[in-house]
Amino acid sequence: MNSDESVLSVRDLKVVFSGFKALKGIDLEVGDQEIVTIIGPNGAGKSTLLDAIVGKSPVAAGHVYYHGRDITNSSPYDIARMGIGRKFQNPNVYNELSVFENLLLALKGSHGVFASIRSKLTRAKRDKIEQVLDRIGLLDKAYAKVSSLSHGQKQWVEIGMVIAQDPTVVLLDEPTAGMTADETFETGEIIQSIARSHSVVVIEHDMEFVKQIAQRIVVLHQGEKLAEGSVQEIQSNRQVIEVYLGREQIDKAA
Ligand code: ADP
Ligand code: MG
Repeated sequence: MNSDESVLSVRDLKVVFSGFKALKGIDLEVGDQEIVTIIGPNGAGKSTLLDAIVGKSPVAAGHVYYHGRDITNSSPYDIARMGIGRKFQNPNVYNELSVFENLLLALKGSHGVFASIRSKLTRAKRDKIEQVLDRIGLLDKAYAKVSSLSHGQKQWVEIGMVIAQDPTVVLLDEPTAGMTADETFETGEIIQSIARSHSVVVIEHDMEFVKQIAQRIVVLHQGEKLAEGSVQEIQSNRQVIEVYLGREQIDKAA
């Protein structure tokens, strides 16, 4: 992709933790309404890449551009406000509140738990929350306490909380971790729906899920980009098979 068309552009990005090179010069382009899936073994640097994009891990060298603007090492708060939303690996939701209340808290311009819940619920806010509930498939659970939801449904609430902030780019770190097969499939549908109006970067392990959602796959290994391409290209890449997909894939392909 031509980087002029990119919403998010990462160039030669390096992250070093006390001498340990976690990212050794990564390039990544993310276009409008595109889903980019990042795969790779544990410790490859996948989460670190998302951390560096959102200003959570210090960038030692290289750049992150958002709509052409250099945002390298801006604060996480500023980056979120500019329009890059991030879902972390573990759900970060308020269990004692309803799904609706959680989404209300996440809406842009909300100020703290109590102020948000006590403030008058405008028509616009209600409509917005209903749109998000529809998107994450939880319209019928709007008034259920989050604690009563399944693990998968909690993950969707958190995806909803990211969407409620109206980001342009959504970064998801292993959104299907711990989900059942049905929940995983449903998550794929949700992500595809989100990508109709956002750019999405997803870190994922489950290759069935990757096949369901992936348009372009980036493979990281030991802080470097090992390969990039379509599902077919990645599944037939010898190096990727050796370090990540494993023998099983070669047998399947045979
Ligand atoms: P992945 O998400 O691909 O499993 P990570 O990005 O979490 O990998 O980690 C990449 C490497 O960087 C690992 O070796 C990890 O131990 C190391 N690492 C990640 N975060 C830190 C940190 N805050 N301090 C030191 N080392 C870290
Ligand atoms: Mg990780």
